[in-house]
Amino acid sequence: MANYVEMWKELGMDLENHDNLCAVLPVAYGDVYLSQENRPEGMAFWDMVVADIHGIRPAELIEAQKNGQKVFGTFCVYVPDEVVIAANGIVTGLCGGSQFWVPDGEAVLPKGTCPLIKASVGARLGKTCPFFRIADMYVGETTCDGKKKAWEILGTDVPMHVMDIPQMKREKDIVKWTEEIKDFAAIVEKVTGKEITAESLEAAIKLINEKRKAMARVYEARKAENIPISGKDALLMSQIAFFDDPARCAMMCNKLADELEQRIADGVSVFPAGTKRIMLTGTPMAIPNWKLHHIIETSGAAVVCEETCTGTRYFEGQVEEGKATLDEQYRAIAERYMGINCACFTPNSGRVDDIIRLAKEYKVDGVIDVNLKFCCLYDTEGYTVEAALKEAGIPVLGIETDYADEDSEQLKTRIEAFIEMLG
Ligand code: SF4
Ligand code: SF4
Repeated sequence: MANYVEMWKELGMDLENHDNLCAVLPVAYGDVYLSQENRPEGMAFWDMVVADIHGIRPAELIEAQKNGQKVFGTFCVYVPDEVVIAANGIVTGLCGGSQFWVPDGEAVLPKGTCPLIKASVGARLGKTCPFFRIADMYVGETTCDGKKKAWEILGTDVPMHVMDIPQMKREKDIVKWTEEIKDFAAIVEKVTGKEITAESLEAAIKLINEKRKAMARVYEARKAENIPISGKDALLMSQIAFFDDPARCAMMCNKLADELEQRIADGVSVFPAGTKRIMLTGTPMAIPNWKLHHIIETSGAAVVCEETCTGTRYFEGQVEEGKATLDEQYRAIAERYMGINCACFTPNSGRVDDIIRLAKEYKVDGVIDVNLKFCCLYDTEGYTVEAALKEAGIPVLGIETDYADEDSEQLKTRIEAFIEMLG
């Protein structure tokens, strides 16, 4: 591993505490990932990225900043990357997925806040994540109450722009969202000093569409009877996609998809024949939250799909290309992003339709509805989701958890019983 200590020092990081994080991550990765057998060779790229996760990409971002580019940190799949890229900016995901950051978040937030928000705030205020130090501007959104209030706190420490996401999906809401995207574009232009043109926006739309298509190819391979990749590896691909350069991400995902398609043709599977197929639905799993996938896949089942924001919600649906004017392009972007079905919307029957559709497409034996503790939105929507699954005859298990390990044994017992029940 290259030595990035000087870079972290210049970023004003708490090096002593950061050393503690660097000490636990490789062990966790070894236990969860490197212990797997028969992984696709293409996963070597993601192994390399994780091995130097606080080094390689942060160094690239700093280099880009030296060349005049600006970095925008985002927390939600509703923030349109296309707009930032069209102004020569760079997007990096900032969602925190580690228990390590939670105590620093709890120093300023109520304990009854979801771990994703606590970890995200803690990663910034505890100065233990380079991505949170590098971003020139944070882009928040009004998706849930916890986030809205967290932006106010983060906004005292870093430039913050908040996008106002509608709560419904009527025509007037899409019009409002289009205007919100235009306002965001104006802010991005101001920060980057670059004007967004119809040409630059079209190129950015195509770039992100290609990335989504490449990710979709990897997911498509998971529909095969012989499952060519573990759920853990597919999740990692999605998690890293939030941080990586989009063109490189598309290239690596396409390369992986080529290998997976070959595996399918050759009848290669990472699981024994007859392994029960599980779909996860619910709250996002930000890196390095591999907890549930690891429990499921060491309990005799395979995760074949995630209806989450670190899964299908991230890449399904394309922005329509070929629009002539900026106004038409912003409207096309608004329509694509309004197609994402997050529990922050009401009504949100589109999500239930997605879950039933995906359960069929991926031929799942059962669904685990996972909710991050204190996420009122997904917890409440779980009632509707689980009722719809039962009505469709698809077995479902509802689970609430956080990033801590304390409940792992209990979860394992419940999940093993669920898998056994699947027959
Ligand atoms: S769950 Fe909702 S709020 Fe969270 S990242 Fe997804 S779309 Fe955004
Ligand atoms: S998991 Fe729920 S509470 Fe947490 S950030 Fe997402 S929507 Fe908000």
